[in-house]
Amino acid sequence: MKILVTGAGGFIGSHLTDFFLARGDSVFALDSVPWDARNYLWVHRDNHRLRYFCDSILNEGLMRYLVRETEAVYHLAAAVGLDNVIGQVLKVIEVNVRGTELVLRLAAEQKRRVLFTSTSEIGGKSPKLPFREDDDRVLGPTIVDRWVYSETKALGEYMCFGYHRAGLPVSIVRFFNVYGPRLDREGSGRVITRFLRQALQNQPIAVIGDGKQTRCFTYISDVIQGVVAAGERPAAIGGIFNLGTPVETSINELVEIVCKTVGHRPPVKYVGLDEVYGKGYEDIARRVPDVERARRVLDWVATTPLEIGIWETFRWLSSCTVLPDDDIDG
Ligand code: UDP
Repeated sequence: MKILVTGAGGFIGSHLTDFFLARGDSVFALDSVPWDARNYLWVHRDNHRLRYFCDSILNEGLMRYLVRETEAVYHLAAAVGLDNVIGQVLKVIEVNVRGTELVLRLAAEQKRRVLFTSTSEIGGKSPKLPFREDDDRVLGPTIVDRWVYSETKALGEYMCFGYHRAGLPVSIVRFFNVYGPRLDREGSGRVITRFLRQALQNQPIAVIGDGKQTRCFTYISDVIQGVVAAGERPAAIGGIFNLGTPVETSINELVEIVCKTVGHRPPVKYVGLDEVYGKGYEDIARRVPDVERARRVLDWVATTPLEIGIWETFRWLSSCTVLPDDDIDG
């Protein structure tokens, strides 16, 4: 197949592109990340089945060409990660809302299947666990920047349903703290990379809050299988699917696993939320996916144990000459 991947230069997008190329597909890859030796897809530079376009998702002329030339669209391009959200709400709205609107409109014109990538942040701070795809959402006030990411992804989902009703074959996945090699500061779940980096550099591991908050850390190769199933299975059309492991890990437990992986125990320092993110940021105590729908419709479950995934992430990080996130001091 000929597939368009938007956001192909990022953490999940580059792994997805690797997958399609390994399967024998051709990929048109769009990202604003420059095409040079630092690009994760640079290893494929001699592969004639990859064409890389360094441009904005908002370039309508280019996007029309890319959608026309391909058979399916995996739309991952978005402003993600707290660094890109806090203080930058207009950029988040422009890229996530206008970009998604453009992708869906062009795909509808050309009758292309679309996979839209959304987020567990959709549920916000809802106390009802696990998060089902059709649960109520509980968000904070508009003066707190972090919620704008959830709002823009929710608008994307609304648009998907609107276009689906008009005949567009589209499905939606929501990611839960995806991690693995290549997760850097552009990534959406950074704590694992940060702890590994701190441990590797023998700096104190900086736990935000009391460390009792939990996350369901989901390994990248599991997630890629789920994305492709949601993007290809006929039964997935019109549906939303949580892609996450139901296994909860507290941040304190994560520290233990990181120390075992790295093979030594740096000191742990507990820091206030305000110290790291500034005033007005809210952390989320727990975020757990209900995985029943993904299991039933996609035949998908996350299987990689956290210890294995962290080991693989550690191996990758150890091989980087410049450690990602270097300039952020927890
Ligand atoms: N966290 C931490 N130290 C860090 C970065 C994050 O203790 O250096 C905590 C953070 O407060 C949150 C959890 O780890 O409770 C996951 O954070 P991340 O930014 O990875 O993802 P998200 O909050 O979006 O789930």
